[in-house]
Amino acid sequence: MTKHQEGIPHMVSRVIQVDPFDLVIFGGTGDLARRKILPGLFRRFCAGQMPASARIIGAARTDLDDAGYRKMVAEAIAEFGSEHTPPEAKLKAFLGQVSYVAIDARGDTGWAALQEIMKGTGKVEAYYFSVSPALFGDLAERLQRWGMADQDARIVVEKPFGRDLETARTLNATLAKYFSESQVYRIDHYLGKETVQNLMAVRFGNMLFEPLWNAQYVDHIQITVAETVGVGGRGEYYDKSGAMRDMVQNHLMQLLCLIAMEPPARFDPDAVRDEKLKVIRALDPVLPHHVVRGQYEAEKGNAGAHPSYREAVGDPRSKTESFIALKTQISNWRWSGTPFYLRTGKRMSARSSEITVVFKETPHSIFGAEAGQHRNVLSIRLQPNEGITLGVTIKEPGPGGMRLIDVPLDMTFSEALGEGAEHVDAYERLIMDVIRGNQTLFMRGDEVEAAWAWTDPIIHGWEARGDVPKPYESGSDGTTDSQEMMRRDGRNWREVSP
Ligand code: NAD
Repeated sequence: MTKHQEGIPHMVSRVIQVDPFDLVIFGGTGDLARRKILPGLFRRFCAGQMPASARIIGAARTDLDDAGYRKMVAEAIAEFGSEHTPPEAKLKAFLGQVSYVAIDARGDTGWAALQEIMKGTGKVEAYYFSVSPALFGDLAERLQRWGMADQDARIVVEKPFGRDLETARTLNATLAKYFSESQVYRIDHYLGKETVQNLMAVRFGNMLFEPLWNAQYVDHIQITVAETVGVGGRGEYYDKSGAMRDMVQNHLMQLLCLIAMEPPARFDPDAVRDEKLKVIRALDPVLPHHVVRGQYEAEKGNAGAHPSYREAVGDPRSKTESFIALKTQISNWRWSGTPFYLRTGKRMSARSSEITVVFKETPHSIFGAEAGQHRNVLSIRLQPNEGITLGVTIKEPGPGGMRLIDVPLDMTFSEALGEGAEHVDAYERLIMDVIRGNQTLFMRGDEVEAAWAWTDPIIHGWEARGDVPKPYESGSDGTTDSQEMMRRDGRNWREVSP
């Protein structure tokens, strides 16, 4: 036991095996399945969480047999699984639980074979729609037609869930024709991150923070999700979406909900999601001068290696944003008057997701003006270096009067919890939650619609005004007018640091 682990007696993860299940991965040969879903399932298998009778059935358009699919799965695990080579015997045992059906979501190919596989197994049945959202309706309809949409079946749907309120409503209505809301698991992988769940533990498991968690004591809250990568090979998709649809409407909105919601009465799916929904519904519309957009430029001196946003998406006149910063308010008793600043972008200076709660200054400084202005700042780092830092004001050491400085009380989870803490990727956790039938970390249909109802007018405003995003330097913290937006309010963005 390391010195950090002393006094943390319950920290070693207990792995509880889930009920026997059959998981069908539509799109089982795709990028997401190979990078996240299959390696994640293998890690859960190695952790002892997958029963021996569980089956994973890849289902995609590619013409493969079981052996061909197992080879693909083994390659995906080798490439994306973990830095350690998996033990041969474990891999073999896992692959023994994997099979494949070539299927067409829009035709009849493969459905009879899948129906045969899934017939009367008596296990938990889950269908992961890891395909283009254009196929969600086809899959749901065929599952029902082929008798696989019974009331215990679960479907997992990937993002994006619609591209505006109307398309999200249509999609919800389509799925609702075949499945009830309690069967639909809408994934936002941000909700599966360890630190995001820790947000709730920190807020509702400690007496320390909650009394101060309101407009009386909090000056403002910042949420930053910064990426260093550009649009890469996703240019065509991304240019139709942009940072608002790709990040703010879902991931940043979810973080905002968790940081701002009222304590739910219980940690159960509907109690938590009811409170999140109330936050979204209480959000003020965003005024045009409270939102700024940007597009990254080519990297200076290295333009070929890192092209500009417009070059990357192949449209010299693209008006899609790769960076957005906005200010919003929540009109309720707890938060009235406290601004929330949200910011996300690509090709920024560091990869970093952080929520910062900036508290107000003390009402009166007994140390006089020369002591300067000091505020407690609570930073919750979601990635990398997950952890929490609380800035505390203390006396600067040494003689010569009372000078104050701010020092961090820093808790990096990996250091605090030591090696006994198991790292579980967001997808692993979420898939196991699907099998357990726990929807707490999945978005409910009304939540998604409410988020679009808030987002749509902002996007429509840009379209109506012909708004063009401002350029920003690659490797910077976004556009200069995002800094200006903060300065107008007498505040500053936190430095984006890894
Ligand atoms: P992909 O293009 O790599 O794979 C698509 C899969 O769908 C393939 O297995 C293909 O065979 C299958 N498919 C296509 N048409 C089909 C049909 N008619 N019938 C049956 N199968 C068909 O896509 P992806 O990147 O894996 O993304 C899958 C989903 O996950 C999408 O909704 C995407 O938005 C979402 N998503 C992906 C990522 C990611 O990192 N790749 C991240 C977040 C969300």
